Amino acid sequence: MNYSDLTRRDWMKSLGLGVGFAAGLGAFVGNETLADLRSRPAAAGTPAKGLATPPCRLENGNVVRPQSPIPNIAETDVLVIGGGAAGTTAAIAAARTGVKVALVERYGYFGGLITGGLVLKILSHRSTDIPLVGRGLTQEMLDRLEKMPHGLNRDYRIGEPEVDAEVFKYLMVEMISEANIDVYLHSWALDAIMDGNVCRGAIIQTKMGPQAILAKQTIDTTGDGDIFASAGCEHEIRVYGIGLVHRIGGVDQATPEKDAKKPRGLGAGTPIPGVQWVNMWGPDGDGLDVKTLSKLEMNHRKQIWKQVQELRGTPGYDKTWLVETAPQIGVRVTRVLSGIHNMTLADAEKKRKFDDCIGIGGAWNGEHDSWQIPYSALVPKAIDNLLTAGRSTSAEPKMSELIRVITPCWQTGQAAGCAAALAIKQGTTARNVSYAALRKLLLEQKVFLG
Ligand SMILES: Cc1cc2nc3c(=O)[nH]c(=O)nc-3n(C[C@H](O)[C@H](O)[C@H](O)COP(=O)(O)OP(=O)(O)OC[C@H]3O[C@@H](n4cnc5c(N)ncnc54)[C@H](O)[C@@H]3O)c2cc1C
Repeated sequence: MNYSDLTRRDWMKSLGLGVGFAAGLGAFVGNETLADLRSRPAAAGTPAKGLATPPCRLENGNVVRPQSPIPNIAETDVLVIGGGAAGTTAAIAAARTGVKVALVERYGYFGGLITGGLVLKILSHRSTDIPLVGRGLTQEMLDRLEKMPHGLNRDYRIGEPEVDAEVFKYLMVEMISEANIDVYLHSWALDAIMDGNVCRGAIIQTKMGPQAILAKQTIDTTGDGDIFASAGCEHEIRVYGIGLVHRIGGVDQATPEKDAKKPRGLGAGTPIPGVQWVNMWGPDGDGLDVKTLSKLEMNHRKQIWKQVQELRGTPGYDKTWLVETAPQIGVRVTRVLSGIHNMTLADAEKKRKFDDCIGIGGAWNGEHDSWQIPYSALVPKAIDNLLTAGRSTSAEPKMSELIRVITPCWQTGQAAGCAAALAIKQGTTARNVSYAALRKLLLEQKVFLG
């Protein structure tokens, strides 16, 4: 048979595909040939005239954006913007209460810095006074990871485990699908939609132009406060160490010389045998500034390349290799909300009790006592129906060190999701949610509140 005689069905059969392909599932292909490509049915093109919105104009040296209506693509109860640690738990927690949830993410996967940034070590789920503060969704995720191949590399009950980014991406797909969340990937949220001082959703930028998602409650989990800044919430901008994480392989094949000092750049273990992740602090910089980010992306990759070559040149380490540099640069802290309550390190050290406690924080490596997280650190001072969670939670700089690591981000996310859902059920604003009801819901979701 000549390749041009192949029908679509023959072509699919040749790839070992059945109905799945027609149902929108992907096809795994090996070495495709030109014949394969030419026999593939071609989709008809549609005449088109650019994006739905008119172009910007240059007027007297200024770029002017013409006013035009923005298509409204969805209306939802809770809109979560940013699918990192905090955003995923916010969306799952809200959806589990039965409200309609939309989750917007600028990239094509969930997990934020955990997956895209290759930040693989889970910190702060333990403390000296309480063996396990990270319960609720935190514990559920750790338990599920524990059962997955290459999910965790050690028992989280007695130490800080590392995860694998791909396993974690998959777990997020599983949990978000189970919770029936409307997903908007490849969508960059631009602006808050405001009705006076009330947030009513956000505009997302997509390949089809800007689109509006209207919501009763919005949660900004972009990590960088993109939406609370646009909404006009009081906040601070901080410069911080910006690094780039990478992974190296072949470490299990190393044959170091007897008594040799451990070489630089070996990093720490991961659930994949022989693969280590290598963290980097990096210079202080403004993680919102595109020029800073571009420069660091370039410099960090040069530095990583050099370091890996040095490692390969160390006797016994010639079989190590660079697996990957993180697709997402490691921005630790940028915009931080100035919330109704601003958390302080002194409060944490004194173990201050809050009337609106929504979670208990741990120690990075379980080395100090626990501390309380108040709901009011997620709530803006003057804007309604908009919350934040994760690394942008209201905290003084030293306290951000405790709140910004993975477990507290999961915890603040879960609390924000529950609070947003409750506000809808109670017909009130996020700021006026009854704490007694929030506490009850968090306990039902197995969160530890002391
Ligand atoms: C280099 C580095 C090392 C670290 N090491 C550790 C460690 O060892 N252990 C630990 O526990 N913690 C560590 N941390 C801290 C921790 O990883 C992060 O603070 C935490 O994961 C942040 O979670 P988040 O959800 O608040 O933010 P992010 O993970 O940043 O999530 C924000 C999400 O929002 C998306 N987003 C952003 N803007 C928009 C927008 N406008 N529209 C749509 N989507 C948007 C992003 O793509 C991302 O998915 C480290 C951080 C860095 C940078």
